[in-house]
Amino acid sequence: MIPEFIKIPEKWTDERRTQPHLNLEAIMEILYHRTYFFDAGIRFMCQRCGDCCTGEPGIVSVTPDEITRIAEHLEMTVETLTETLLLVFEDGHRIQEEADGRCVFFDGGCRIYPVRPQQCRTFPFWIDNLRSESQWEAVCHACRGIGNGRLYTKREILDILADEE
Ligand code: SF4
Repeated sequence: MIPEFIKIPEKWTDERRTQPHLNLEAIMEILYHRTYFFDAGIRFMCQRCGDCCTGEPGIVSVTPDEITRIAEHLEMTVETLTETLLLVFEDGHRIQEEADGRCVFFDGGCRIYPVRPQQCRTFPFWIDNLRSESQWEAVCHACRGIGNGRLYTKREILDILADEE
């Protein structure tokens, strides 16, 4: 599958449109050799503060496999989980929020941390966050984990972005 950011003509060139013969591996090889503001890598380690799970509402999608894992983790059936804690969203499901905007699974900490959805696992390395340096700076202000912990290399970050599709 082709990463979405390749289709976005803002810093990221639309390789698929201009070079449709390339497969993902070839496109990634091109991307690895480009220059980005995160060429030197980015340090990140989640501080489990919950800031990204509370406050402003957001949409967290869950795949059928993730729903199964979350249900097992919470020792409930997929049906109960789907009916009580998820909402239908587009052609799948999303996690419900409490009235104050916090994720329904956040209760002083993430209740599903070991099986949290990919969208949570890959934060803050989201395409929209890394589309430009100014957007990334805004995320840095919102997430205290950025700048701490292990160094994610440029290649690792691009691989995470490619997996988001
Ligand atoms: S805001 Fe950052 S540090 Fe805090 S829980 Fe979210 S990812 Fe972790």
